[in-house]
Amino acid sequence: MRTVAVLGATGSIGASALDVIARHPDRFRAGVLAAHRNVEALAALCAKFRPDLAVIADAALEADLRERLRSAGVTTRVTAGADALVEAATDKRCDTVVAAIVGAAGLASTLAAARAGKRLLLANKEAVVMAGPLLRDALDAGGGALLPIDSEHNAVFQCLPADRASLDAAGVTRILLTASGGPFRGRPRDTLGSVTPEMACAHPNWTMGRKISVDSATLMNKGLEVIEAHFLFDARPERIEVVVHPQSIVHSMVEYADGSVLAQLGNPDMRTALAHALAWPERVAAGVAPFDLLGIGRLDFEPPDRTTFACLDLAYRALAVGGSAPITLNAANEEAVAAFLDGRLPFLAIPEVIESTLETLPAASAVTLPEVLDADLTARRVAQRIIASAKG
Ligand code: NAD
Ligand code: MG
Repeated sequence: MRTVAVLGATGSIGASALDVIARHPDRFRAGVLAAHRNVEALAALCAKFRPDLAVIADAALEADLRERLRSAGVTTRVTAGADALVEAATDKRCDTVVAAIVGAAGLASTLAAARAGKRLLLANKEAVVMAGPLLRDALDAGGGALLPIDSEHNAVFQCLPADRASLDAAGVTRILLTASGGPFRGRPRDTLGSVTPEMACAHPNWTMGRKISVDSATLMNKGLEVIEAHFLFDARPERIEVVVHPQSIVHSMVEYADGSVLAQLGNPDMRTALAHALAWPERVAAGVAPFDLLGIGRLDFEPPDRTTFACLDLAYRALAVGGSAPITLNAANEEAVAAFLDGRLPFLAIPEVIESTLETLPAASAVTLPEVLDADLTARRVAQRIIASAKG
């Protein structure tokens, strides 16, 4: 029996994880559920899953959550605040942690789960982008396994030999990350000036949280995933390529020296990656619709439009520069996306804010957690200033 802490339980990945958990009560149990502010949804999940512990990150809502659980007769213990997320990630009763908090807010709990030797089901890609080397050290110290949940990285994981010493030793020549292209694929830049958050969040193939939906629309999601692939698989940037594949059926590919290309295919449904990672190395049903290749009919591939969707190359550049540059990239992106979702910044200004922030802040070394958090904070302040002046 695996006892699972779902951090980000009220989100899109959290829902998919809990759906798979609920299908296999003989194998999986939700031991901890954590969320940010949605007390109502968290209380409902507690009533359904009866975890040992519920964490509400916004401490102002602790009493509200307690009262809801008390009146529903749910005996789940309640803790609150950002520190409680770290405690939840290392809770002795759980052997598995689903890291599904969005953004830098998930960094500390993700690192803590790795250090504690949990099986880490990693969806929180921003944590890897900010602190890839720290995460590697934490995993080495803890001795647990990392299972990627991002569909592309889960696909690459499935296509790589488990016992490789390195990609070179395994004969890997390229990692091909697929991208759907998002809702604005094929649109010329001059038609994107007035797109709204609703348009940006209407993803053609996936239903996801709003931040990652905007990232998909700008292609920053793929940029973050290039950096994620670099750290997760120890892959040199020039070996990581992006190909647009509008159907989102081929989730990514690995090319070998002999010309073989292994791909993982499936319906665009995150429950496949979650079921794979929860049950690994076994396989269990995920509730996903049967795969209908003839119904899908065709698989298309095209190059990304790197001019309209400038975020992709900004990410490659930040990875090449290294040090604090990926942290700055991620922080500026989080601020720019939040401003866009708030109606404070036009869509096309998102890459401009990120580029200006990167130009303003010279990349420095950021090795320790305090250094990483400091670089994150500095970049947010600079990005906020740029956003405010872009508006006025
Ligand atoms: P979402 O917005 O639907 O859910 C985010 C979750 O994080 C919520 O439960 C929320 O309560 C929690 N959260 C937000 N801020 C928090 C804070 N400060 N403290 C504690 N909890 C906080 O997002 P999502 O789409 O589920 O994405 C979650 C992560 O998974 C992101 O990093 C995203 O890039 C990654 N991811 C998502 C998908 C997908 O299909 N949704 C696919 C691949 C990767
Ligand atoms: Mg992905």
